[in-house]
Amino acid sequence: ATPTAVMVATGEGAMQGVLIKGGHALEGAHKIHQMIFDKTGTLTMGKPVVVNTKLFKHMVLQNFCEIVAAAEASSEHPLARAIVDNVKSIRGDSSDLSWLPEVKNFKSLVGQGVYAEVQGREVLVGNVQLMIASNISLPGEAIEFVQDMEKQACTAILVAIDKEIYGALAISDPVKPEAKPVVEILKSMGVQILMVTGDNWGTANAIAREVGIEKVYAEIRPQGKAEIVKDLQSTGMAVAMVGDGINDSPALVAADVGMAIGAGTDIAIEAADIVLMKNNLEDVVTAIHLSRKTFRRIR
Ligand code: ADP
Ligand code: MG
Repeated sequence: ATPTAVMVATGEGAMQGVLIKGGHALEGAHKIHQMIFDKTGTLTMGKPVVVNTKLFKHMVLQNFCEIVAAAEASSEHPLARAIVDNVKSIRGDSSDLSWLPEVKNFKSLVGQGVYAEVQGREVLVGNVQLMIASNISLPGEAIEFVQDMEKQACTAILVAIDKEIYGALAISDPVKPEAKPVVEILKSMGVQILMVTGDNWGTANAIAREVGIEKVYAEIRPQGKAEIVKDLQSTGMAVAMVGDGINDSPALVAADVGMAIGAGTDIAIEAADIVLMKNNLEDVVTAIHLSRKTFRRIR
């Protein structure tokens, strides 16, 4: 393709809300054999809501919810936003969060959860792996709750206070309406589709089934996502990664073509070669079509 053809195609992309960062990105898109989708915020809306709250120890439910929300208040994760929004609506106060308990030493544990000291108590909010890694023992009813919720494609989040499991939340994040049709179109174009997520196997499989993806990697840490990309590349495949989060940025960089959701985090957008400004997965297909048109002179 001539530099002019590339310019025309990137211009056309820009008009359709597909930001292609240069000729290399455009050229890569038509060579893709495999495309890996992140789950949360990419295949799903990324606007999760709390659908269940459960206490395993004696505590006032509202206090519990406020402690958890306080711990999550500084996190940018969509799950954290769901937890904070939930407590806002319980309280009927959406103005600000000045009434939340005081927080010290907030730490974001990427791909696992958060840690914070809330009113002098050590609070951990996150998945089962986080609790195991922190040497916190899991009561049977907590494990049961997690399994029940995962079967319903919910993400279960555990809450430990001073090293003891106090309760859990179930959060549901619906699949984007275009996810299933887009997966189908990509398959028909000869692209193999995979899903990768930091989330647990139960939820991951439930979502994958919903959108028609057979190959799933679950419980993967951010660096692990990049390693999966490299493993696939080492078999001679050209690999695209589609993601929205900080946790996807190593994989977006490693991929032959990294595609970020425009509503995603700045770090993911920077790491990507192509940005889907309309947050619509159909534009993954748009990008491939533009690339094919330019480099294979179809029509
Ligand atoms: P994904 O790969 O699906 O985008 P992440 O890697 O961001 O997901 O997170 C993986 C898992 O880590 C989540 O499903 C959740 O269990 C846990 N997690 C991550 N961030 C948080 C948080 N702020 N609060 C609670 N749990 C979290
Ligand atoms: Mg994500």
